[in-house]
Amino acid sequence: ESAEAAEGGGDGRISYEDIGGLDDELDMVREMIELPLSEPELFRQVGIDAPKGVLLYGPPGTGKTLIARAVANEVDASFHNISGPEIMSKYKGESEEQLREVFEKAREDSPAIVFFDEIDSVAGKRDDSGDVENRVVAQLLSLMDGLDARGDVVVIGATNRVDSLDPALRRGGRFDREIEIGVPDAIGRREIFEVHTRGMPLSDDVSLERLAEHTYGFVGADVHALATEAGMNALRRFRDDGGSLADLTVTRADFDAARAAVDPSA
Ligand code: ATP
Repeated sequence: ESAEAAEGGGDGRISYEDIGGLDDELDMVREMIELPLSEPELFRQVGIDAPKGVLLYGPPGTGKTLIARAVANEVDASFHNISGPEIMSKYKGESEEQLREVFEKAREDSPAIVFFDEIDSVAGKRDDSGDVENRVVAQLLSLMDGLDARGDVVVIGATNRVDSLDPALRRGGRFDREIEIGVPDAIGRREIFEVHTRGMPLSDDVSLERLAEHTYGFVGADVHALATEAGMNALRRFRDDGGSLADLTVTRADFDAARAAVDPSA
């Protein structure tokens, strides 16, 4: 079982403040997930079922995991992490058993978010999958159908390849809402740079605007890597040159050198 199951939010710190760009996407996520978890009685009152499953899809490193953890933290829900490839590596029958355990734990610790990363690795179209995949998908379908409509457990699936998912999983009452988490544009990148340089002593010659313009094809994970590399460059300079710690800043040259070392994923 996942070591971090049921820790509130999985990571006590991540909040919406840590997500750059993705404003519209976050609004949708909040409506679909936060509302049913925090105010299930609204759905009862209006007479509609709360969503049980939401699919986040898009390229790696764009913030899908970040969003799931942030929502869990914001609504004080427990966070239960399932990795598709990991669960598929189990011995015969253990994959299904582990899925059942995670869902049971989530129900006990509700409100809860079950985050299913790389869900396509278990839930490809059943026709082209092997026997194990078929059984695991069947188990997942039955567990999701078994969640009651109260909405206090929501499953967030993440995938890079939404088209390869078993259509049965995308039907009503399962993952019937989908949100694309795409590659950020320059404005999004700028906001992501703001997040990842928030704690840095930036020198005056650093322009996040300019950085955002020169990082076409960067996803959030790339921006994070670049900012870390720039910080490392500043550290190295400091250790080589000495000086007062209070004067240590991360400069434009540190970022330019980092830019040359980090390639865009997209
Ligand atoms: P994967 O499909 O590989 O699981 P993912 O979409 O779940 O990718 P995350 O794990 O959320 O990606 O992102 C990886 C790291 O990249 C984050 O921990 C964060 O540092 C950074 N990152 C990604 N997207 C953003 C974003 N929108 N804002 C700020 N940081 C981001």
